[in-house]
Amino acid sequence: MLRLPPFRYHRPGTVEEAVSLLHEHGPDAMPIAGGTDLMPNMKHRLFTPAHVVSLNGIGAMRGIGVSGATLRIGALETLHDISTNPLVRGHFPGLATAAGQVAGPQLRNMGTIGGNVCLDTRCTYYNQTEFWRGALGYCLKKDGDICHVTRVGRKCVAAHSADTPPNLIALGASLTLTGPTDTREIDAADFFITDGIWNTRRASDEILTEMRIPLMGPVSNGRGGDRDNGRLRPNARGVHRRSAYRKLRQRNSIDFPLLSVAVVGDFEQDGTVAGLTGVVSALGARPRILAGWDEIALGERLGPESIEALAERARAQCRPLDNIIVDAEWRRAMVPVQVRRALEELAGGRDDEPQSRNG
Ligand SMILES: Cc1cc2nc3c(=O)[nH]c(=O)nc-3n(C[C@H](O)[C@H](O)[C@H](O)COP(=O)(O)OP(=O)(O)OC[C@H]3O[C@@H](n4cnc5c(N)ncnc54)[C@H](O)[C@@H]3O)c2cc1C
Ligand code: SF4
Repeated sequence: MLRLPPFRYHRPGTVEEAVSLLHEHGPDAMPIAGGTDLMPNMKHRLFTPAHVVSLNGIGAMRGIGVSGATLRIGALETLHDISTNPLVRGHFPGLATAAGQVAGPQLRNMGTIGGNVCLDTRCTYYNQTEFWRGALGYCLKKDGDICHVTRVGRKCVAAHSADTPPNLIALGASLTLTGPTDTREIDAADFFITDGIWNTRRASDEILTEMRIPLMGPVSNGRGGDRDNGRLRPNARGVHRRSAYRKLRQRNSIDFPLLSVAVVGDFEQDGTVAGLTGVVSALGARPRILAGWDEIALGERLGPESIEALAERARAQCRPLDNIIVDAEWRRAMVPVQVRRALEELAGGRDDEPQSRNG
């Protein structure tokens, strides 16, 4: 049996108290929300914080509701609640699908969206017991000085493996971080970096408190929209937004993504594309926004030809590594397949119900 290392548990009631505890104890402290990732990682001795600061007593970090022209989601909302919330399902079906495909029901009842966004990266050579890692001589990300995947360099290429962030990025969400001296907002697209040792711009004494998603903002061309009692409706020019999510995994439950694809599109009334964004993840340490889609899709209908061209453009940009348990070449071959399926869902979907279901 794997046992937890000893630690002192704190349960503050406000964001300020939590941040102050994190600041006071520095690298010896970590926040915990649902604990579904941190606890196994502590048992594997990937993290051994002497102080664990629970966020669960902080009411201000809960809630899902329309705020101005955005949907505000508190970082403590569970993945189950996000996947079943009518506002999320109505406005952002791709995000609802992604939250509903994380792990299994028990983990979605405990796991939060904040913990999902701040999830540690994963690798075959890292998510192992201390005994296993020690036998191999450890690795760059923890206790060692070599990367067993690349064998060169000082950068960790462990995989970003969280399901919701690709959707948040594609939807143009912003994240709110509170630290000891200030509160700042950062675009989800700018939050992740390419070094898998610590792959976010969050300082260790900052807490992600909430995220805001534009209800009908620009995808790639700066066009706005409007709302009717919090419900998405066509903007002045009749542009509708749709989203979809595809997740490749070994089994259709419990497993982390081997490859994930989030797509968000704005469509004119005649069905032509007014904006299109695709984000792939689970390949390297951060999600990748696919480049060059506008020139293929803008002003066109999403049909077999344009979808094929977009899928091929995605394949050309993605080079998976042997950082997780399946063959990298096979994963690369799956990129155009999953992108095509996501775009077909987007093209065929209605605007008032989730377009994406199982992976
Ligand atoms: C068997 C199994 C399968 C899984 N499958 C998947 C999967 O398919 N897809 C997937 O995405 N995840 C998966 N997970 C991981 C995990 O369950 C989810 O990612 C979950 O959303 C994590 O949320 P949490 O609240 O439990 O995070 P925690 O474990 O509490 O925290 C995770 C990390 O985020 C930090 N943290 C948490 N909340 C905050 C905050 N508000 N501000 C700053 N830092 C914070 C913690 O310090 C920790 O480093 C799986 C886990 C297990 C055990
Ligand atoms: S990618 Fe390399 S450094 Fe990162 S966890 Fe895997 S083996 Fe370690």
